[in-house]
Amino acid sequence: MERTLILLKPDAVAGKFCGKVVDKFESAGFTIRGCKMISLTPAILKEHYAHVADKPFYPEIETFMSSVPVIALVLEGDDIVAKMRDMLGVTDSRKAAPGTLRATFGKDVMVNVAHASDSKETAVTEIARFFKGEEIFAY
Ligand code: ADP
Repeated sequence: MERTLILLKPDAVAGKFCGKVVDKFESAGFTIRGCKMISLTPAILKEHYAHVADKPFYPEIETFMSSVPVIALVLEGDDIVAKMRDMLGVTDSRKAAPGTLRATFGKDVMVNVAHASDSKETAVTEIARFFKGEEIFAY
């Protein structure tokens, strides 16, 4: 069974639609294995967004992602990494396919509801970045 790392971003937390997003995850049959609220520091954001840290828009991402605490989830399901990326939609909410979470709840390319790991390998690294072993529950 595969796992992925989700961060419900400040727009979801401040906008009070985390529950609706988590409902979609559970309705898709995914299992919550870990869940916590975290204030993201510049250091962890630089690590997590290393692939865009040299882009001109990076300072905006840092400001946005640290504006309100995020909710981090470890979710488990069959082929979940690919299924979750499909469920989320493309990065720019305005271009996301109808019915995806970003099309439904997102605003633009930065304010886009949630982060989801983009590969099985990345998922392993990202889960370890945000969760200790004892914070993940196999029940
Ligand atoms: P994704 O979250 O879809 O995997 P990326 O890894 O390319 O997308 O980018 C990471 C995050 O950086 C995006 O989710 C978004 O919040 C932000 N971002 C990406 N591109 C831009 C951009 N052109 N302007 C502002 N923010 C951006």
